[in-house]
Amino acid sequence: MGSKIYDFLIIGAGSAGCSTAYFLQKSGKKVAIIDREGIAGGASGVAGAFLSPLPGKKNSYNNFVNEALKFSIRFYEELIPNAINKKGVLRVPNNNFSKEKLENNDIEYEYFNSKDLQDISTNFKDIDGYFYKNAAVIEPLSICNKMVEGCDFYKQDIDKLVFKDGMYYIEDIKAKNIILAQGVSNSLVKHPYMKISPIFGLRVDVKTTTKIPFNIHKSISISTNKNDGTVAIGATHERHDSSQLECTTTCDKCIFYVDNEKNQVESLLNKTKELITLKNLEVIKTYKGARATIKSYFPVIGKIVDYESSLKKHPSIKNGTKIAQDSLEYYPNIYIINALGSRGFVFGPYLAKILSENILNETPIPKEISTQKLFYKTARKEKSQL
Ligand SMILES: Cc1cc2nc3c(=O)[nH]c(=O)nc-3n(C[C@H](O)[C@H](O)[C@H](O)COP(=O)(O)OP(=O)(O)OC[C@H]3O[C@@H](n4cnc5c(N)ncnc54)[C@H](O)[C@@H]3O)c2cc1C
Repeated sequence: MGSKIYDFLIIGAGSAGCSTAYFLQKSGKKVAIIDREGIAGGASGVAGAFLSPLPGKKNSYNNFVNEALKFSIRFYEELIPNAINKKGVLRVPNNNFSKEKLENNDIEYEYFNSKDLQDISTNFKDIDGYFYKNAAVIEPLSICNKMVEGCDFYKQDIDKLVFKDGMYYIEDIKAKNIILAQGVSNSLVKHPYMKISPIFGLRVDVKTTTKIPFNIHKSISISTNKNDGTVAIGATHERHDSSQLECTTTCDKCIFYVDNEKNQVESLLNKTKELITLKNLEVIKTYKGARATIKSYFPVIGKIVDYESSLKKHPSIKNGTKIAQDSLEYYPNIYIINALGSRGFVFGPYLAKILSENILNETPIPKEISTQKLFYKTARKEKSQL
Protein backbone atom coordinates (compact mmCIF):
# COMPACT_ATOMS: atom_id res chain seq x y z
CA MET A 1 0.00 0.00 0.00
CA GLY A 2 1.45 3.42 -0.94
CA SER A 3 1.74 6.11 1.73
CA LYS A 4 -0.98 8.69 2.06
CA ILE A 5 -0.32 12.37 1.59
CA TYR A 6 -2.44 14.88 3.46
CA ASP A 7 -2.64 18.66 3.27
CA PHE A 8 -3.01 18.74 7.06
CA LEU A 9 -2.24 16.28 9.82
CA ILE A 10 -3.81 17.25 13.12
CA ILE A 11 -2.31 15.85 16.32
CA GLY A 12 -4.94 15.70 19.06
CA ALA A 13 -8.58 14.76 18.51
CA GLY A 14 -10.24 16.91 21.17
CA SER A 15 -12.44 19.96 20.73
CA ALA A 16 -9.51 21.97 19.31
CA GLY A 17 -8.28 19.37 16.82
CA CYS A 18 -11.69 18.13 15.68
CA SER A 19 -13.03 21.67 15.16
CA THR A 20 -9.94 22.55 13.10
CA ALA A 21 -10.32 19.37 11.06
CA TYR A 22 -13.91 20.35 10.32
CA PHE A 23 -13.13 23.79 8.89
CA LEU A 24 -10.07 22.70 6.91
CA GLN A 25 -11.89 19.78 5.41
CA LYS A 26 -14.87 21.95 4.55
CA SER A 27 -12.51 24.14 2.51
CA GLY A 28 -11.61 21.14 0.39
CA LYS A 29 -8.38 20.14 2.14
CA LYS A 30 -7.34 16.54 2.71
CA VAL A 31 -7.14 16.13 6.46
CA ALA A 32 -6.04 13.36 8.84
CA ILE A 33 -6.30 13.42 12.62
CA ILE A 34 -4.26 11.38 15.10
CA ASP A 35 -4.77 10.70 18.79
CA ARG A 36 -3.21 8.20 21.12
CA GLU A 37 -6.45 7.89 23.14
CA GLY A 38 -9.10 7.98 20.41
CA ILE A 39 -11.54 10.73 19.52
CA ALA A 40 -12.31 12.97 22.53
CA GLY A 41 -10.09 10.70 24.63
CA GLY A 42 -8.45 13.62 26.50
CA ALA A 43 -10.03 16.53 28.37
CA SER A 44 -12.73 16.87 25.72
CA GLY A 45 -14.36 13.56 26.63
CA VAL A 46 -14.45 14.67 30.26
CA ALA A 47 -16.10 18.07 29.80
CA GLY A 48 -19.57 18.73 31.27
CA ALA A 49 -19.98 20.16 28.64
CA PHE A 50 -21.60 23.45 29.54
CA LEU A 51 -21.71 26.42 27.21
CA SER A 52 -22.42 29.54 29.27
CA PRO A 53 -21.99 33.30 28.86
CA LEU A 54 -19.44 35.18 30.95
CA PRO A 55 -21.36 38.04 32.57
CA GLY A 56 -19.89 41.26 33.92
CA LYS A 57 -18.78 44.66 32.77
CA LYS A 58 -17.47 44.50 29.21
CA ASN A 59 -13.75 43.79 28.82
CA SER A 60 -11.66 42.13 26.12
CA TYR A 61 -11.85 38.69 27.73
CA ASN A 62 -15.59 38.42 28.36
CA ASN A 63 -16.24 40.03 25.00
CA PHE A 64 -14.17 37.29 23.38
CA VAL A 65 -15.90 34.52 25.38
CA ASN A 66 -19.38 35.81 24.56
CA GLU A 67 -18.64 36.19 20.84
CA ALA A 68 -17.26 32.64 20.80
CA LEU A 69 -20.33 31.39 22.65
CA LYS A 70 -22.77 32.89 20.14
CA PHE A 71 -20.80 31.42 17.25
CA SER A 72 -20.35 27.97 18.77
CA ILE A 73 -23.95 27.46 19.92
CA ARG A 74 -25.19 28.30 16.43
CA PHE A 75 -22.52 26.05 14.91
CA TYR A 76 -23.48 23.00 17.03
CA GLU A 77 -27.19 23.58 16.45
CA GLU A 78 -26.61 23.42 12.72
CA LEU A 79 -24.07 20.60 12.83
CA ILE A 80 -25.89 18.12 15.04
CA PRO A 81 -29.05 19.46 16.69
CA ASN A 82 -29.69 16.37 18.81
CA ALA A 83 -26.34 16.72 20.60
CA ILE A 84 -27.14 20.17 22.04
CA ASN A 85 -29.68 21.00 24.70
CA LYS A 86 -30.20 24.75 24.87
CA LYS A 87 -32.40 25.60 27.83
CA GLY A 88 -30.38 28.49 29.32
CA VAL A 89 -28.57 28.86 32.64
CA LEU A 90 -29.52 30.28 36.02
CA ARG A 91 -26.49 31.98 37.61
CA VAL A 92 -26.67 32.17 41.36
CA PRO A 93 -24.54 34.99 42.82
CA ASN A 94 -21.44 34.11 44.85
CA ASN A 95 -18.23 35.85 45.93
CA ASN A 96 -16.73 35.88 42.43
CA PHE A 97 -19.95 36.81 40.68
CA SER A 98 -21.85 39.25 42.87
CA LYS A 99 -25.36 40.45 42.03
CA GLU A 100 -23.83 43.64 40.69
CA LYS A 101 -21.57 41.73 38.32
CA LEU A 102 -24.39 39.50 37.11
CA GLU A 103 -26.58 42.53 36.40
CA ASN A 104 -23.93 44.79 34.95
CA ASN A 105 -23.43 43.53 31.42
CA ASP A 106 -24.52 43.62 27.80
CA ILE A 107 -26.09 40.18 27.93
CA GLU A 108 -29.82 40.01 28.27
CA TYR A 109 -31.03 38.36 31.50
CA GLU A 110 -34.10 37.81 33.63
CA TYR A 111 -33.94 37.96 37.43
CA PHE A 112 -35.70 35.16 39.34
CA ASN A 113 -36.26 35.58 43.08
CA SER A 114 -36.76 32.63 45.38
CA LYS A 115 -40.54 32.62 44.88
CA ASP A 116 -40.25 32.73 41.08
CA LEU A 117 -37.97 29.70 41.27
CA GLN A 118 -40.34 27.85 43.62
CA ASP A 119 -43.10 28.46 41.07
CA ILE A 120 -40.92 26.81 38.42
CA SER A 121 -39.92 23.85 40.64
CA THR A 122 -40.41 23.20 44.34
CA ASN A 123 -37.09 21.33 44.29
CA PHE A 124 -35.16 24.61 44.18
CA LYS A 125 -33.61 25.60 47.50
CA ASP A 126 -34.05 29.13 48.85
CA ILE A 127 -31.93 30.74 46.13
CA ASP A 128 -32.29 33.51 43.59
CA GLY A 129 -30.43 34.16 40.38
CA TYR A 130 -30.05 35.57 36.91
CA PHE A 131 -31.29 33.61 33.95
CA TYR A 132 -29.36 33.84 30.67
CA LYS A 133 -31.09 32.14 27.81
CA ASN A 134 -28.14 31.65 25.44
CA ALA A 135 -26.61 28.72 27.31
CA ALA A 136 -26.55 25.00 26.64
CA VAL A 137 -25.16 21.61 27.49
CA ILE A 138 -23.76 19.41 24.75
CA GLU A 139 -22.60 15.84 24.12
CA PRO A 140 -18.88 16.21 23.47
CA LEU A 141 -18.23 12.77 22.01
CA SER A 142 -21.04 12.95 19.43
CA ILE A 143 -19.92 16.44 18.46
CA CYS A 144 -16.23 15.52 18.06
CA ASN A 145 -17.13 12.42 16.05
CA LYS A 146 -19.40 14.44 13.77
CA MET A 147 -16.76 17.11 13.18
CA VAL A 148 -14.21 14.59 11.88
CA GLU A 149 -16.55 12.64 9.64
CA GLY A 150 -14.77 12.36 6.34
CA CYS A 151 -11.24 12.76 7.79
CA ASP A 152 -8.93 9.78 8.20
CA PHE A 153 -8.34 8.92 11.85
CA TYR A 154 -5.24 7.14 13.24
CA LYS A 155 -4.96 5.92 16.82
CA GLN A 156 -1.29 6.46 17.41
CA ASP A 157 1.11 8.04 19.88
CA ILE A 158 3.42 10.50 18.14
CA ASP A 159 6.78 11.07 19.81
CA LYS A 160 8.51 13.16 17.19
CA LEU A 161 7.99 15.04 13.95
CA VAL A 162 10.26 14.29 11.01
CA PHE A 163 10.50 17.02 8.35
CA LYS A 164 12.24 16.30 5.04
CA ASP A 165 12.05 18.03 1.66
CA GLY A 166 9.06 20.13 2.60
CA MET A 167 7.03 17.25 4.00
CA TYR A 168 6.32 15.75 7.44
CA TYR A 169 6.66 11.97 7.80
CA ILE A 170 4.94 9.85 10.42
CA GLU A 171 5.46 6.22 9.49
CA ASP A 172 3.26 5.73 6.42
CA ILE A 173 1.61 9.13 6.69
CA LYS A 174 2.92 12.18 4.88
CA ALA A 175 1.60 15.68 5.48
CA LYS A 176 2.36 19.13 4.13
CA ASN A 177 1.23 20.89 7.32
CA ILE A 178 0.93 19.95 10.98
CA ILE A 179 -1.57 21.31 13.49
CA LEU A 180 -0.73 20.70 17.14
CA ALA A 181 -3.90 20.40 19.23
CA GLN A 182 -2.34 18.51 22.11
CA GLY A 183 -4.04 19.99 25.17
CA VAL A 184 -1.94 19.41 28.31
CA SER A 185 0.41 16.85 26.72
CA ASN A 186 4.06 17.69 26.16
CA SER A 187 4.36 19.68 22.95
CA LEU A 188 6.08 18.09 19.97
CA VAL A 189 7.95 21.34 19.31
CA LYS A 190 9.57 23.77 21.74
CA HIS A 191 7.75 27.02 22.49
CA PRO A 192 9.09 28.35 25.80
CA TYR A 193 6.99 31.52 25.49
CA MET A 194 3.74 29.51 25.67
CA LYS A 195 3.72 27.89 29.08
CA ILE A 196 0.72 25.63 29.06
CA SER A 197 -0.19 24.30 32.47
CA PRO A 198 -2.95 21.96 33.64
CA ILE A 199 -5.91 22.71 35.87
CA PHE A 200 -7.10 19.33 37.05
CA GLY A 201 -10.79 18.64 37.42
CA LEU A 202 -13.38 16.00 38.12
CA ARG A 203 -17.08 15.81 37.38
CA VAL A 204 -19.92 13.28 37.54
CA ASP A 205 -22.95 12.14 35.61
CA VAL A 206 -25.92 11.30 37.81
CA LYS A 207 -29.35 9.80 37.42
CA THR A 208 -32.28 11.47 39.18
CA THR A 209 -36.07 11.48 38.93
CA THR A 210 -36.10 15.28 39.40
CA LYS A 211 -36.77 17.45 36.36
CA ILE A 212 -34.27 20.30 36.14
CA PRO A 213 -35.67 23.06 33.94
CA PHE A 214 -32.34 24.66 32.93
CA ASN A 215 -28.64 24.55 33.79
CA ILE A 216 -27.77 26.00 37.18
CA HIS A 217 -24.41 27.56 37.96
CA LYS A 218 -22.87 28.82 41.18
CA SER A 219 -19.36 27.59 41.96
CA ILE A 220 -20.32 24.37 40.18
CA SER A 221 -22.69 23.65 37.30
CA ILE A 222 -25.69 21.31 37.26
CA SER A 223 -27.16 20.54 33.86
CA THR A 224 -30.76 20.23 32.81
CA ASN A 225 -31.74 16.58 32.16
CA LYS A 226 -29.84 15.57 29.02
CA ASN A 227 -31.32 13.63 26.11
CA ASP A 228 -30.31 10.31 27.69
CA GLY A 229 -31.92 11.34 30.99
CA THR A 230 -28.66 11.90 32.87
CA VAL A 231 -27.55 15.10 34.56
CA ALA A 232 -23.98 16.43 34.45
CA ILE A 233 -22.53 17.97 37.61
CA GLY A 234 -19.12 19.61 37.52
CA ALA A 235 -16.48 20.42 38.06
CA THR A 236 -13.65 20.72 40.55
CA HIS A 237 -10.66 22.96 39.78
CA GLU A 238 -7.27 22.06 41.20
CA ARG A 239 -3.84 23.38 40.44
CA HIS A 240 -0.90 21.18 41.45
CA ASP A 241 2.75 21.36 40.74
CA SER A 242 2.90 19.33 37.55
CA SER A 243 6.46 20.15 36.53
CA GLN A 244 7.56 16.56 37.15
CA LEU A 245 4.52 15.15 35.44
CA GLU A 246 4.01 14.14 31.86
CA CYS A 247 0.39 13.80 30.82
CA THR A 248 0.76 10.66 28.77
CA THR A 249 -1.09 8.26 31.04
CA THR A 250 -4.83 8.28 31.59
CA CYS A 251 -6.18 10.43 34.41
CA ASP A 252 -7.25 7.27 36.24
CA LYS A 253 -3.61 6.68 37.06
CA CYS A 254 -2.85 10.31 37.90
CA ILE A 255 -1.67 10.86 41.46
CA PHE A 256 -3.86 13.92 41.76
CA TYR A 257 -7.02 11.83 41.63
CA VAL A 258 -6.06 8.48 43.07
CA ASP A 259 -6.22 9.68 46.66
CA ASN A 260 -8.99 12.18 46.70
CA GLU A 261 -11.57 11.22 44.10
CA LYS A 262 -14.16 10.34 46.76
CA ASN A 263 -13.80 13.72 48.50
CA GLN A 264 -14.13 15.57 45.23
CA VAL A 265 -17.34 13.72 44.31
CA GLU A 266 -18.77 14.41 47.77
CA SER A 267 -17.91 18.08 47.51
CA LEU A 268 -19.76 18.33 44.16
CA LEU A 269 -22.84 16.60 45.58
CA ASN A 270 -22.86 18.82 48.68
CA LYS A 271 -22.70 21.94 46.54
CA THR A 272 -25.55 20.55 44.43
CA LYS A 273 -27.70 20.09 47.55
CA GLU A 274 -27.38 23.80 48.35
CA LEU A 275 -29.05 24.66 45.04
CA ILE A 276 -31.63 21.97 44.27
CA THR A 277 -32.92 18.68 45.70
CA LEU A 278 -32.25 15.83 43.30
CA LYS A 279 -34.50 12.89 44.18
CA ASN A 280 -33.33 9.26 43.85
CA LEU A 281 -29.85 10.47 43.06
CA GLU A 282 -27.34 7.94 41.80
CA VAL A 283 -23.82 8.71 40.57
CA ILE A 284 -23.33 6.70 37.40
CA LYS A 285 -19.96 7.87 36.12
CA THR A 286 -16.99 9.94 37.28
CA TYR A 287 -14.81 11.77 34.77
CA LYS A 288 -11.32 13.15 35.37
CA GLY A 289 -9.18 15.35 33.19
CA ALA A 290 -6.94 18.39 32.93
CA ARG A 291 -7.67 21.70 31.26
CA ALA A 292 -4.81 23.36 29.40
CA THR A 293 -4.31 27.03 30.28
CA ILE A 294 -1.86 29.86 29.98
CA LYS A 295 -1.58 32.79 32.36
CA SER A 296 -3.76 35.24 30.42
CA TYR A 297 -6.63 32.68 30.18
CA PHE A 298 -6.93 33.51 26.49
CA PRO A 299 -6.48 30.53 24.17
CA VAL A 300 -3.68 30.65 21.61
CA ILE A 301 -3.64 29.89 17.89
CA GLY A 302 -1.39 30.40 14.88
CA LYS A 303 1.94 29.57 13.33
CA ILE A 304 4.51 28.51 15.92
CA VAL A 305 7.37 30.99 16.33
CA ASP A 306 10.79 29.38 16.77
CA TYR A 307 11.92 31.23 19.88
CA GLU A 308 15.66 30.64 19.73
CA SER A 309 16.11 31.25 15.99
CA SER A 310 13.97 34.39 16.09
CA LEU A 311 16.02 35.87 18.91
CA LYS A 312 19.23 34.88 17.22
CA LYS A 313 18.13 36.63 14.05
CA HIS A 314 16.78 39.71 15.86
CA PRO A 315 18.50 40.02 19.28
CA SER A 316 17.23 43.60 19.58
CA ILE A 317 13.71 42.26 20.19
CA LYS A 318 14.82 41.81 23.80
CA ASN A 319 15.33 45.58 24.01
CA GLY A 320 11.84 46.23 22.74
CA THR A 321 12.67 46.80 19.05
CA LYS A 322 9.57 46.18 16.98
CA ILE A 323 10.14 43.47 14.40
CA ALA A 324 7.37 42.63 11.97
CA GLN A 325 5.71 39.23 12.53
CA ASP A 326 6.64 38.16 9.01
CA SER A 327 10.35 38.40 9.65
CA LEU A 328 10.30 36.18 12.75
CA GLU A 329 11.46 32.58 12.34
CA TYR A 330 8.78 29.91 12.38
CA TYR A 331 8.81 26.13 12.47
CA PRO A 332 7.95 25.16 8.89
CA ASN A 333 4.21 24.69 8.36
CA ILE A 334 3.35 23.97 12.00
CA TYR A 335 0.39 25.62 13.70
CA ILE A 336 -1.02 25.39 17.21
CA ILE A 337 -4.48 25.61 18.74
CA ASN A 338 -4.35 25.22 22.51
CA ALA A 339 -4.98 26.65 26.00
CA LEU A 340 -8.75 26.42 25.65
CA GLY A 341 -8.97 26.30 29.46
CA SER A 342 -12.37 25.65 31.00
CA ARG A 343 -14.23 26.62 27.86
CA GLY A 344 -12.97 24.14 25.30
CA PHE A 345 -16.32 23.70 23.60
CA VAL A 346 -17.18 27.39 23.70
CA PHE A 347 -13.88 28.27 22.03
CA GLY A 348 -13.25 25.23 19.77
CA PRO A 349 -15.25 26.02 16.62
CA TYR A 350 -14.76 29.79 16.92
CA LEU A 351 -10.96 29.49 17.13
CA ALA A 352 -10.82 26.78 14.48
CA LYS A 353 -12.63 29.03 12.03
CA ILE A 354 -10.22 31.92 12.70
CA LEU A 355 -7.20 29.62 12.44
CA SER A 356 -8.30 27.97 9.20
CA GLU A 357 -9.04 31.36 7.60
CA ASN A 358 -5.60 32.54 8.68
CA ILE A 359 -3.89 29.49 7.20
CA LEU A 360 -5.87 29.43 3.96
CA ASN A 361 -6.48 33.15 3.30
CA GLU A 362 -3.99 34.91 5.57
CA THR A 363 -6.83 36.57 7.50
CA PRO A 364 -5.13 38.13 10.56
CA ILE A 365 -5.46 36.49 13.96
CA PRO A 366 -6.64 38.83 16.76
CA LYS A 367 -3.61 39.95 18.75
CA GLU A 368 -4.73 38.67 22.14
CA ILE A 369 -4.86 35.04 20.94
CA SER A 370 -1.81 35.09 18.69
CA THR A 371 1.43 33.14 19.23
CA GLN A 372 3.39 36.29 18.39
CA LYS A 373 1.97 38.28 21.29
CA LEU A 374 3.26 35.68 23.75
CA PHE A 375 6.58 35.48 21.93
CA TYR A 376 7.26 39.26 22.13
CA LYS A 377 6.16 39.39 25.76
CA THR A 378 8.52 36.62 26.86
CA ALA A 379 11.42 37.88 24.74
CA ARG A 380 11.19 41.36 26.28
CA LYS A 381 10.96 39.94 29.76
CA GLU A 382 14.17 38.02 29.17
CA LYS A 383 16.02 41.31 28.85
CA SER A 384 14.60 42.64 32.11
CA GLN A 385 15.76 39.48 33.88
CA LEU A 386 19.34 39.69 32.60
C1 LIG B 1 -13.50 18.22 34.58
C2 LIG B 1 -13.58 19.12 33.38
C3 LIG B 1 -14.78 19.75 33.07
C4 LIG B 1 -14.86 20.58 31.95
N1 LIG B 1 -16.06 21.18 31.67
C5 LIG B 1 -16.16 21.96 30.55
C6 LIG B 1 -17.40 22.56 30.20
O1 LIG B 1 -18.40 22.39 30.90
N2 LIG B 1 -17.45 23.31 29.07
C7 LIG B 1 -16.36 23.50 28.26
O2 LIG B 1 -16.47 24.17 27.23
N3 LIG B 1 -15.16 22.97 28.59
C8 LIG B 1 -15.04 22.21 29.72
N4 LIG B 1 -13.83 21.68 30.06
C9 LIG B 1 -12.65 22.08 29.30
C10 LIG B 1 -12.52 21.30 28.03
O3 LIG B 1 -12.65 19.93 28.31
C11 LIG B 1 -11.15 21.58 27.41
O4 LIG B 1 -10.95 22.95 27.27
C12 LIG B 1 -11.08 20.99 26.02
O5 LIG B 1 -11.44 19.65 26.07
C13 LIG B 1 -9.70 21.15 25.44
O6 LIG B 1 -9.70 20.53 24.19
P1 LIG B 1 -8.34 20.21 23.48
O7 LIG B 1 -8.69 19.63 22.18
O8 LIG B 1 -7.46 21.41 23.53
O9 LIG B 1 -7.62 19.14 24.44
P2 LIG B 1 -7.93 17.59 24.65
O10 LIG B 1 -9.35 17.28 24.58
O11 LIG B 1 -7.20 17.18 25.89
O12 LIG B 1 -7.25 16.93 23.39
C14 LIG B 1 -5.86 16.79 23.22
C15 LIG B 1 -5.63 15.40 22.65
O13 LIG B 1 -4.32 15.31 22.13
C16 LIG B 1 -3.89 13.98 22.25
N5 LIG B 1 -2.43 13.99 22.14
C17 LIG B 1 -1.57 14.89 22.73
N6 LIG B 1 -0.31 14.63 22.37
C18 LIG B 1 -0.35 13.55 21.54
C19 LIG B 1 0.66 12.83 20.86
N7 LIG B 1 1.94 13.14 20.96
N8 LIG B 1 0.27 11.78 20.09
C20 LIG B 1 -1.04 11.43 19.99
N9 LIG B 1 -2.04 12.09 20.62
C21 LIG B 1 -1.69 13.15 21.39
C22 LIG B 1 -4.41 13.57 23.64
O14 LIG B 1 -4.54 12.17 23.72
C23 LIG B 1 -5.76 14.28 23.68
O15 LIG B 1 -6.84 13.46 23.33
C24 LIG B 1 -13.71 20.82 31.16
C25 LIG B 1 -12.52 20.17 31.46
C26 LIG B 1 -12.44 19.33 32.57
C27 LIG B 1 -11.15 18.66 32.86
